[in-house]
Amino acid sequence: MKTNHRIPLISPPQAKADILHLLHARDELQQHLFHSARQVRQQAGMALVKLRGVIEISNYCQKACGYCAIRPQNCTLERFRMDTDTIIAVAHDIASEGITTVFLQSGQDPKVDDIVCEAIPAIRELGVEVLLNLGEKSLSTYERYAAAGAGSYILKFETADPILHQQVICSPLSERLQCAEWIKQAGMQLGTGNIIGLPNQTVESVAEDILLALRMAPDFVSSSPFIPNEHTPLQDHPHGSLELTLNAIAVCRLLFPHALIPAVSALEKLEPDGQLRGLNAGANVMTINFTPKDLRDSYAIYSQGRFVVKLDHAHNTIARAGLTPGRPQPDVYLQKPANPMCGQTLDQLFPTRGTA
Ligand code: SAH
Repeated sequence: MKTNHRIPLISPPQAKADILHLLHARDELQQHLFHSARQVRQQAGMALVKLRGVIEISNYCQKACGYCAIRPQNCTLERFRMDTDTIIAVAHDIASEGITTVFLQSGQDPKVDDIVCEAIPAIRELGVEVLLNLGEKSLSTYERYAAAGAGSYILKFETADPILHQQVICSPLSERLQCAEWIKQAGMQLGTGNIIGLPNQTVESVAEDILLALRMAPDFVSSSPFIPNEHTPLQDHPHGSLELTLNAIAVCRLLFPHALIPAVSALEKLEPDGQLRGLNAGANVMTINFTPKDLRDSYAIYSQGRFVVKLDHAHNTIARAGLTPGRPQPDVYLQKPANPMCGQTLDQLFPTRGTA
């Protein structure tokens, strides 16, 4: 184990070496990393697990991401697009479970824009926040969403490597980053993140992802393992590493103490209790799937056999992590203090390393 290792995490290039070191952590160092992540989460007041209810509203898509079965080239998929009333009815179910974030996700489908803008005010009347994940749009479309009442938007950059991005997502990274800027400009909170385990993606590239996320200063950040998906160009590519993804989650918690960081369903797909391990690595969000069953099977982002998170699974996982569901106070998670990890040594980052 390294000692006296300086971690000036926001001053590259040393930051990259430190992040890389932590991404490679296994055994004792990995346990210290997770422990520190939990401590940072606690100190930041972020140790309540935020529940989101997701509705997958359309599986039409303009893009051709190599990992995703919603891509238009997949002719085996039955396509659907929910209407406004259906979305509002499902949002009602979410709110009646006491869940305070309605999360609308879809393929990149311009035809959802009007439907969503009509649905948002009615959803807001249920006393919940609206989070969107609908892909790359124009500034004016993001402004319409914000004006309708959407508070936040997730647009993952997926990989910070421009060549890999072009190869896998089949469009320029710069366009996606421009959209992320527009989301902020429109006044919404921004969520972003990466996929781990894309073809030829190195651990160094994952470190670059984290550095890019730092530069973007998002409010939420996520790492998901790649899941091979039937009827896609990457269907035979191996899934991403669970350990590397958990380490990325923990490093993100150290770097973004106040962020919402999900324990994504893909973790559970890789290993039973994968989401529990995500919470133990510093995550603090779980997303419960409310898409009606007949449509859910056609929303094939994580393969047909994806793990569908239900409310009882989330409650059970949260309890086993020793946490409780809740809503971090906005004045806690909206503030963005200077990165408290800046300039700290590994000993400061891992106060228990001598005693564990
Ligand atoms: N159309 C939207 C939503 C995409 S789905 C958009 O472009 O942003 C939401 C996220 O699921 C993606 O950003 C991607 O990170 C993740 N995802 C989709 N398929 C995946 C797969 N097979 N493996 C891992 N992550 C995947």
